[in-house]
Amino acid sequence: MPSDPLTAEHVLEFPGGYTRTTGPVIGRFLTELRDGRLMGVRTAEGRTLVPPLEYDPATGEPVTDEWVEVGPAGTVTASAWVHEPRESHPLDRPFAWALIRLDGADTALVHAVDAGSPKALPPGTRVRPVWRAERRGHITDISHFAPEVTKIVSPVSTRYRLTASPSLTRFLEGVRDGVLIGCRCATCEKVYVPYRLTCPECGNPIAGEVTLPDTGTVTTFAINNLPDPRAPEVPFVSAYILLDGADIPLIALVGGVPAHQVRQGMRVRAEWVPAEERTLSMTNIRWFTPTGEPDVEL
Ligand SMILES: [Zn+2]
Repeated sequence: MPSDPLTAEHVLEFPGGYTRTTGPVIGRFLTELRDGRLMGVRTAEGRTLVPPLEYDPATGEPVTDEWVEVGPAGTVTASAWVHEPRESHPLDRPFAWALIRLDGADTALVHAVDAGSPKALPPGTRVRPVWRAERRGHITDISHFAPEVTKIVSPVSTRYRLTASPSLTRFLEGVRDGVLIGCRCATCEKVYVPYRLTCPECGNPIAGEVTLPDTGTVTTFAINNLPDPRAPEVPFVSAYILLDGADIPLIALVGGVPAHQVRQGMRVRAEWVPAEERTLSMTNIRWFTPTGEPDVEL
């Protein structure tokens, strides 16, 4: 009868830690780190290594004794997300190990980044070190890095009072009563809706009202993919509708038809809200809906 393999837990460690010397280059880096500075060392070819090394990894030549301050901010070049941090990890919540090229450096340093979510840390993200209150000359003097602040959410709200002109008031009174009021210029004979008092074409004053039908033709339209409280659903269509008998179109929603079926030349009719719900507002027309008549040549 097969038996499970025998196993035993072992721990390999130096209780209290393993003491090692740093050498002059890493020692200088860690000493500067204890003072809150990030330093790199120059190679003979003029590149700046951070973290510093005693030998240029590209040529094998000893580095120079020229040191330059880098960072403290840097750019993430790559990262790996840690979903379940271990006891020895620098953060007790999910974080990323990232390659960070500090400003002024030619190489990248590995450190932890507290970004909240892997989506918040694409390559190119700008990060800054979060220092520990007490530093002792160790890479963990930097607790971790954190993304720079690039976004805030500001409340935006404007309250204003709109006073309707006498002509717009007349038009809205019509809409409340389920009638679309336009006007005809006595000079150039153009018909405008909404009702207005001067002709934008010839500049002459307009006296007479014209009552227009609530049917028309879609001239141009846009399919909108962002929600709007007035719209039936997303996507929805807003259109320029030329009411029968008018010379300029009116902008309105088109509903009661899938957005992709709306077309230029489509015949539509206003869908009014019930009379008892109407106010002095264009929202009395819920939207325009297809009449089913044949399309019109524009
Ligand atoms: Zn005119």
